Amino acid sequence: MPSLLERLEKHGGLEQWLANRLIWTFAGSRRAVRTETPLVSFTFDDVPDSALHEGAAILERHGVRGTFYISGGLAGQVEPERLLISPEGCRELAERGHEVGCHTFSHRRVRNISRAELSADLDRNGTYLAGAGVPRPPRNFAFPYNAAWPLARPELRRRFRTCRGAGEAINRGRTDPMMLKAVEIRQPEAEARALTRWIDDVAGTPGWLVFFTHDIAPRPTSHGCTPETFDLLVAHAVARGCAVLPVDRVLDRLGW
Ligand SMILES: [Zn+2]
Repeated sequence: MPSLLERLEKHGGLEQWLANRLIWTFAGSRRAVRTETPLVSFTFDDVPDSALHEGAAILERHGVRGTFYISGGLAGQVEPERLLISPEGCRELAERGHEVGCHTFSHRRVRNISRAELSADLDRNGTYLAGAGVPRPPRNFAFPYNAAWPLARPELRRRFRTCRGAGEAINRGRTDPMMLKAVEIRQPEAEARALTRWIDDVAGTPGWLVFFTHDIAPRPTSHGCTPETFDLLVAHAVARGCAVLPVDRVLDRLGW
C-alpha cells in the first residue's frame, strides 16, 4: 500500500486530490432530467393547515397530488397568521394520496446542527409521522429556510431520495438530487399569478419545475397565496399538458 504522501504526490498534491475527490463526489451524484413531458410538482413547507384544507383540495379537484414537507416540531402550533397542521392532518394528506415529506423536526437551519443532532432530529420527525399514522417513512426532504449545507449531505443522502432548496430555476439536464431547485409562490398576489410564465417555460422546453409555498388562504401570509391564484397555477399546468406529480412520483418516472 502506498503511503498517503505517496498517493498525494501521484495525484498532483493535496489540492488537486481534493478537487478530484469533490468533482467525483458531485459528478457521481448527478442525475439527468430526461423527459419529453413537462413535469411540475407543487410542494408545501412546514405545513400550515390551510395547505391541506385549500391547497390539497384544489390539487385534487384537478385530479393531481402534491408533496407536503412536514416539521413535526411545528405541529398544531398557533402563529399570529396561521395554524400549523395537526398529526391527523398529516395522516389525512397521506390517505388522500399526497406525499408526506420531511422538513426536519425542529425546523432549525441544518448548518447549525451537528451530524449527530441532525440524525436524531430526522429520526424524531420520522417517529412523529409514523405516530400520526402516515404509513410510509418520508423519502424526500426540504431544507428549512431553503438553507442547504454541504456537510449535512452524507446524512441526508443516506435517508432521502432528494433534498429541495429554492434557487428560482427549472431542473433540467444534469441535476443534483440533493439540491433540487424550486420556484416560490408568495406575495404580492400579482407576482404569484404571473408565475404562469414558469409553466409556459417548462411546457416549451420540458424539464422539472418544482413550486413551493406555505399557506393557501383568502388573506395569505407573505409566504403563501390565495386559493384563486393557486387554482390558476394548477389549472394552467394541467392545461399546458404538464404531468403534475408529487416529487417521489417524478423520481420513479425519471428512473432516479
Ligand atoms: Zn419551513
